[in-house]
Amino acid sequence: MPRVWILLAAYLLASTFAAAQDQDFSKVQMKVSKVAGNVYMLEGAGGNIGASVGDDGIVIVDDQYAPLADKIAAALKNIGVTDKPVRFVINTHYHGDHTGGNMPFATKGATVIAQDNVRKRLEAGGKAGNGGSITMDVKPAAKGALPIITFDHDVTVHLNGEDIRALHFPAGHTDGDAIIFFPKANVVHMGDDYVRYGFPFIDVTAGGSVQGMIAACDKVTTLLPPDVKVIPGHGEISNLDEVREYIAMLEGTTAAVEAALKKGSTLEQMKKDKILAAWDKKYASKFVTQDVFIETLYNSLTNQKNAAFVQHN
Ligand SMILES: [Zn+2]
Repeated sequence: MPRVWILLAAYLLASTFAAAQDQDFSKVQMKVSKVAGNVYMLEGAGGNIGASVGDDGIVIVDDQYAPLADKIAAALKNIGVTDKPVRFVINTHYHGDHTGGNMPFATKGATVIAQDNVRKRLEAGGKAGNGGSITMDVKPAAKGALPIITFDHDVTVHLNGEDIRALHFPAGHTDGDAIIFFPKANVVHMGDDYVRYGFPFIDVTAGGSVQGMIAACDKVTTLLPPDVKVIPGHGEISNLDEVREYIAMLEGTTAAVEAALKKGSTLEQMKKDKILAAWDKKYASKFVTQDVFIETLYNSLTNQKNAAFVQHN
């Protein structure tokens, strides 16, 4: 595995699941990239932020970690388009590396919007994990960090001449994923249904499944214009060809586990047989190893409850 992946994976593991107060954010710098039109992407620590920046103010998709809120606000101001504040935050899902900034942005007057299940999971806390060797405790969020507006199927924010639409894709990375469309700028933010660090982490414990992740990615690639710019949950700005390559990996690995299930292999046998060896070199990381991804797929495919909820939109 290339060294850069090992570092990235270790970093991701830490940034995704360690409590924010255990991390040193003082050295994190915000990198701002123009994606298209008035949509920008901010990279710091945690998930990518998408931002619509215009005369009406600012709408951000995800907000990384609380200690980074001032840096995020400064970077948005530095773009030089508007001095107006962040008016809305849309969360793509409940994980702390995407929602950690909810409280500071809400305190400064922003309204946080998310799918119903995001609020429920933030409020209740609980467990996150792949149903196997990855398992983490999630502390309940403070009241001030909870989304104020929630939606079941979809919601649209009409600002900056854009119809920013958040659409729920059930049972993908989690059970509360929203993919966010900026049709005028021709940009989509896919949250962690599409990531670029290798085999994806799927929060099976929180209702995620590989089938739902494939369904979400399929819908994006079939419905959106071919030249749409794609903001992944983690990693560089992308495009539909790369999303298709990712789908092919998800489908190929899923088929390998399905075939092994059909043969009557146990989970342990699948790991021993290294049934995902063909993808290992390109996609395995220290965070989601081949064994971890076999567990993820096995648990997705044998959990009928998740599979039943995939076709919601
Ligand atoms: Zn996530």
